[in-house]
Amino acid sequence: MTPVTMTKAGSATQTYHDDLHLVRDEIDKCMKCGNCMAVCPVYSVDKDEMAVTRSKIAVADAVLKGDLSLDDPEVSEMIFNCLVCKSCMTNCPTKVGYDKIVLAFRAALVRKNGLPWLKKMIFSTLKNPKMFDAAMKFGASVQGVAFKGDRKLKAISPRSPFALVGSGIGFDADRKMPALTVTPLRERVEEVVTPPKVKLKVAFFTGDSLNYFYPDAGMDLIEVLTANDIEVHIPKEQSCCGIPVLVHGDTETVRSLARNNIDQMVATGCEYLVTGCGSCGGAWQHDYVDLFAADPVYKAKAEYWAKRTYDISTFLTKVIRFRQPKGQVDAVVTYHDSCHLKKTMKVFAEPREILKSIPGVTLKEMAAPDTCCGSGGSYVVSHYDTSSCLGRNKAQDINQTGADTVSVGCPACMMQLLDNVSRFGKEQKVSHYISLLADSYRKEKEIAH
Ligand code: SF4
Ligand code: SF4
Repeated sequence: MTPVTMTKAGSATQTYHDDLHLVRDEIDKCMKCGNCMAVCPVYSVDKDEMAVTRSKIAVADAVLKGDLSLDDPEVSEMIFNCLVCKSCMTNCPTKVGYDKIVLAFRAALVRKNGLPWLKKMIFSTLKNPKMFDAAMKFGASVQGVAFKGDRKLKAISPRSPFALVGSGIGFDADRKMPALTVTPLRERVEEVVTPPKVKLKVAFFTGDSLNYFYPDAGMDLIEVLTANDIEVHIPKEQSCCGIPVLVHGDTETVRSLARNNIDQMVATGCEYLVTGCGSCGGAWQHDYVDLFAADPVYKAKAEYWAKRTYDISTFLTKVIRFRQPKGQVDAVVTYHDSCHLKKTMKVFAEPREILKSIPGVTLKEMAAPDTCCGSGGSYVVSHYDTSSCLGRNKAQDINQTGADTVSVGCPACMMQLLDNVSRFGKEQKVSHYISLLADSYRKEKEIAH
């Protein structure tokens, strides 16, 4: 078999998203020690050596050398049986950039075979924010046909016969999901929200999950910023961060989304960008830089914003020293470390600092708060059994804390936890940590009046 050859290998105009050979150095760093095995969530469930990082790297090496074909279905299955959680990278002595390897292979597969029609249709709609917005609002208006509501959990579940059809991929009658909102976050507020006193102005990248599924958490984030005298700019035409597209190998679409997002943020004139989602924040801090590393125009812009992007917790605790809340919020809270927030953005102490500052909140740690919840974007659909095992393990860890609330900093984890605490937990409340702080500020105002 001939080695894989791509056009312009090593060209200065390309990145590893365009040319598999550019991950050669990362592959060569692996010394096959197996440290990744101890922390890989997929291996913890599958117990199959082929699920471990080092095996995937060995397969990548074989493809580049021509010993295996990229078209081999087992290559594709191995490359996609990964949450891209980066846990392996935190336990790797030689600092293998495994995320680059897996993303390069997924992109190569898409270049060679194209995308399945459904993904192609969804991803191309994402490139047009107005069309995507209309599609999401239409979905919200008709979701009652296929889903029924659960007021207590603020969730929806598939109705019969949809539950029967979807049960193979976890969309059974017990599945709990957040409902799509009929009024997205970016429609609930003006493009610029100005408090009476302005100390600083920031751009808020909402991402699609906060915009369409958790607009209340997005409103809480804005409320917290304005309570700290920060003017918030929320560009209406921002797109999805592109991470769901990137992990499926659609390089052209993710670059298109990223260019639009960068242009939108430049137009705000702000010097800081805040996010309330680990995946979005990680995209701005790392992925956009990698995607445009060879781009003569967007390289500098991506690097500029990477240095100025903060998770809301870091912005509050490190940049502005947020106003200490005084309102009482009686809750026993456990905090789940989202993979992209902890392992990509290195944010873990800051949300805890915020939670501990709230009067009435007692923080109880899980035995393994940073173990992946099994979400991994569409992994929860494509590998439902593994994802569900990880979700159940997480729910059991939550149960033993005795907490009544699970606090999170990433909407994708909120969705996975909502389903799993309802199935395997004690129906604990799942909320973004920023909502608890907003709640405390609101209670403080109520007392003052
Ligand atoms: S921990 Fe790193 S060096 Fe060791 S086998 Fe895994 S990827 Fe390779
Ligand atoms: S990124 Fe996560 S799921 Fe993928 S190989 Fe590494 S530890 Fe396993």
